[in-house]
Amino acid sequence: MAETKRDYYEVLGVSKTATDEELKKAYRKLAKQYHPDANPDNKEEAEAKFKELNEAYEVLSDKQKRSMYDQFGHSGPNGYNSDFSGFSGFDGFSGFSGFSGSDFDINDIFSSFFGGGSSRANRNGPVRGRDLRVRVEITFEEAAFGVVKEITVNREEQCDTCKGSGSKPGTSPETCKVCGGSGSVRVTQNTILGKMQSVRTCDNCGGTGKVIKEPCPDCKGRGSVKKQRKIKVSIPAGIDNGQIISLNGEGENGLRGGPSGNLYITVSVKKHPVFTRKGDSIFCDVHISFAEAALGAIINVPTLNGTEKYDLAEGTQTGSIFTLKGKGIKNVNGRGVGDLYFTTIVDVPKKLNTEQRELLKKFAEISGESFETGKKRKFF
Ligand SMILES: [Zn+2]
Ligand SMILES: [Zn+2]
Repeated sequence: MAETKRDYYEVLGVSKTATDEELKKAYRKLAKQYHPDANPDNKEEAEAKFKELNEAYEVLSDKQKRSMYDQFGHSGPNGYNSDFSGFSGFDGFSGFSGFSGSDFDINDIFSSFFGGGSSRANRNGPVRGRDLRVRVEITFEEAAFGVVKEITVNREEQCDTCKGSGSKPGTSPETCKVCGGSGSVRVTQNTILGKMQSVRTCDNCGGTGKVIKEPCPDCKGRGSVKKQRKIKVSIPAGIDNGQIISLNGEGENGLRGGPSGNLYITVSVKKHPVFTRKGDSIFCDVHISFAEAALGAIINVPTLNGTEKYDLAEGTQTGSIFTLKGKGIKNVNGRGVGDLYFTTIVDVPKKLNTEQRELLKKFAEISGESFETGKKRKFF
């Protein structure tokens, strides 16, 4: 989509806050004005405007599509590459000629065709390929520093033998004899308004205007084949559990010239034995001895890049939290680096030898502590 598109609200000539009713009214008025059959001298321009109008109405009349459009405009949400023109398959509107009923309201015809704003997608036009979703598991460190992973996907790809044409190499599709290559045929129907001609997709060629005489032996005429493909995915530093990487165009190939789908990779990050993570910050516990806590000490703190010395003040309590600035995780969007927080856990010695016990007893005495020791205690 290289051409710049007009704003859908502008196309319909309504404000951004227009109600459904206002949209419908504006659409009907303009549809009447631009209908190709109402502009026999200016058919091409009218057809383009009519198409533009239908596309705008198709999107704005659908609550979900409208809100997407309001948020993201024509380009669609970031990374999804959604193409609003893909929502509407308005094609083949060229002929509502030959009405024999004389005084009908064109609006009635319209509502019978476009009732409820439903699209008349051309089933035989280009179709966008399917999106694929895969999950990839990485380690905590890989998430922190980024990694290149190779993933395997099974997907429909364009057939190499026929380059997607579906015809056996050396042969080419023939022009459909039923529709003369236009892909559509006129059908005359009897309606309450009298005889009415409408345009239908040609059954013989499925709307492509071409018939494959000798199908490609590799894809049986489908133009695409299932392939197993290894794809290298660059996972950025700072990615978090559950985040999704989208690779546009790496899904299945489209049909009849349609664009390829996207590949969505959900990243699953394994738990780390030492660290937990919240946003760009990481957390861990550091065990210190009773003496280190009381006297202060230079301790080793684990970080993602090996251990780091930290000068702990005397009198450090259990449960105290300290910060190592910039030792967390790099922000995935390039907004700095998080911090590392460690919590001190003071370990109380579980087994004391006689000398240790005596010293501690003395320590308690000097501290003015007087406490009774029960039978379970080994003071004697
Ligand atoms: Zn045909
Ligand atoms: Zn083929």
